[in-house]
Amino acid sequence: VIQFGIAEKTTRSVCAYCGVGCEINVETKNEKIIGIHPVMESPVSKGHLCVKGRYAWNYNYAEDRIKHPMIRRNGEWEEVSWEEAFVFCSEKFKAISAQYGPDSIGIIGSARATNEENYLIQKFARAVIGTNNIENCARVCHQPTAKAMSMMLGTGAATNSFDDIEKTKTILISGSNTTKSHPIVGARIKQAVLNGANLIVIDPRKIELSKYAKYHLQLKAGTNIPLFNAMANVIIAEGLIDEKFIENRVEGWDTFKEFISAWTPECASKICNVSAQLIREAARLYATKSPSMCFHGLGLTEHTQGTESVMALVNLALITGNIGKSGSGINPLRGQNNVQGAAVMGCEPGSYTGLASVNKERVQFEALWKTNLPDKKGLTLPEMIDNGALGNLKAMWIVGFDVYFTMPDSSHTEKAFSNLDLLIVQDMFLTETAKRFGNVFLPVASSFEKEGTFMNSERRIQRIRKVIPAPEEVKTDWEIVCALAKKMDKKELFNYTSAEEIWNEIRLAWKAVHGITYQRIENNGLQWPCPDENHPGTEILHEKSFPIGDKAKLFQIDFVHTLEQASESYPFILVTGRELYHFNSGTMTYRTSNKKIHPTDFLHIHPADAIDIKMKEGEKAKISSKYGTAFLKVKMDDNVRKGECFTTFSNTEVFINKITGPFRDNYVQTPEYKITAVRIEKIKQR
Ligand code: SF4
Repeated sequence: VIQFGIAEKTTRSVCAYCGVGCEINVETKNEKIIGIHPVMESPVSKGHLCVKGRYAWNYNYAEDRIKHPMIRRNGEWEEVSWEEAFVFCSEKFKAISAQYGPDSIGIIGSARATNEENYLIQKFARAVIGTNNIENCARVCHQPTAKAMSMMLGTGAATNSFDDIEKTKTILISGSNTTKSHPIVGARIKQAVLNGANLIVIDPRKIELSKYAKYHLQLKAGTNIPLFNAMANVIIAEGLIDEKFIENRVEGWDTFKEFISAWTPECASKICNVSAQLIREAARLYATKSPSMCFHGLGLTEHTQGTESVMALVNLALITGNIGKSGSGINPLRGQNNVQGAAVMGCEPGSYTGLASVNKERVQFEALWKTNLPDKKGLTLPEMIDNGALGNLKAMWIVGFDVYFTMPDSSHTEKAFSNLDLLIVQDMFLTETAKRFGNVFLPVASSFEKEGTFMNSERRIQRIRKVIPAPEEVKTDWEIVCALAKKMDKKELFNYTSAEEIWNEIRLAWKAVHGITYQRIENNGLQWPCPDENHPGTEILHEKSFPIGDKAKLFQIDFVHTLEQASESYPFILVTGRELYHFNSGTMTYRTSNKKIHPTDFLHIHPADAIDIKMKEGEKAKISSKYGTAFLKVKMDDNVRKGECFTTFSNTEVFINKITGPFRDNYVQTPEYKITAVRIEKIKQR
């Protein structure tokens, strides 16, 4: 309920949901939230908020919020003191490490936690436990983007800023239902189109932005690479390249040109089911009405060739000179408010803070932290699950991430978690992971109950502020990490008294944020790189050179069909994705009034397919894959392609990841959530 005009206090902070990072004014009375309003002068959100950011805050007061640490004994959760919880965890960690070695322990940081907290979580894994088995949820979303962009451009983050939406002439969106998953960016794109910008949408479904697009290339799910290659073919064949840019700033041109000559639109058309003419027209528009700006989402990354899909997109930007200038670039839309922060702070098995390599830059971090660090690269999250299933991983500490509900092929995760000697879950609620497998539960403060910073999709570091007090027996993530480190005899490395103190250590660890002080981001935030305190921050990357040198790299990307194919037994391809009212695993939004508006996940199928399988709107379907079974109500939806179906993944009662498959990205192991062959059968209504 919004009660205008009676607030005692208004506090500026950042939305707790997606990676747009909209700024919020939180109104409180008697130390309780009574409403949220947009920050009118915010450079990110320009006075707008979506239905999640503005209204979905009541999870803070949910009845089932856990407010005491707990240990599960004889199958029952028991409330314990923090002292008892810390002693229990530290003794278990010490015993497991002594018996099986530090690499038998895995720790997962959180996109829900601040930069400061993620910095400490990875420091704990490395400096206290002695392992690089530290991860974050980027592994299941944009890790392919980070890999592709790092290899080709030298930096894995968005090249440009949201303000470029108003400066560009053409926007190309692929694999992102932007108005649903990143609504404020979606709104800015709609406005830009109304003001004259061109829009190209590449997506297997008709999405809201399709109506605004000059061209919607409704490709067969999982065929991004042939489509991008064919666009490159047209651009080269018709002489629409930026010759000067290629000569001065790109390497690999001759071999790329030769390779791409085979990828004619006619050839790609047979794979993507998009007409050759449409591919030609979209390519011409992107290349000629520039600057052109690309946004992409998980429709590109969550495939076996996810990294390569992003590489094929970057090729397009490089041959047309759409990098390093206003209104251009490659701009991944990051899913969670601080997923990029979690990764860049060092919750990655191969890198420290600032993506410094654990192989090459260990000595610097040993000097900074004044301790020895492990030299072996750690396990990714999928590898932790694999090792757990084999009995080789013995303990996990999972912060703010419902891993069991999120990972595909959940029977595999179940096997891994069942084998663990210790599973600590740190969250606000008993997640599916905690309910089924947790031994210890550590209750945490929400983003409204702590200080710190988040990093949004355009590399902007923004302050979040303590708006309300946390429940009495609830701690912030960083307080928990410090307390546990002290119990494990590493007090001297974790002697922090504030989030700002931690941030100032991060500024020493990573020179790209050295110039960003808490005082400088009191209001609008700053975009890294920002190497000194006089630096204004960086809106556009790669204007003159790349971190890998003067030239970026073109790659020849061939298309390989995924092993997950429709068959007689499983004739439909299931695509999963997001929708407007709920956020990811639904832990927060299903505890708000958004649940009333959108009560569950639905199975969207094309009306012609519904007739074929004799199903009607609202009937319940059993949906089966080779990996499991789930039950969903059917929605007839001619926005999906015939032969494909779509569902969201937020409702724990549906638990769609019981049926998603085991295949992973070739480079970084991101699961192939976007392609699962399924069978749909009508079941009797209960
Ligand atoms: Fe929050 Fe994202 Fe909505 Fe902005 S667009 S209000 S950051 S959920």
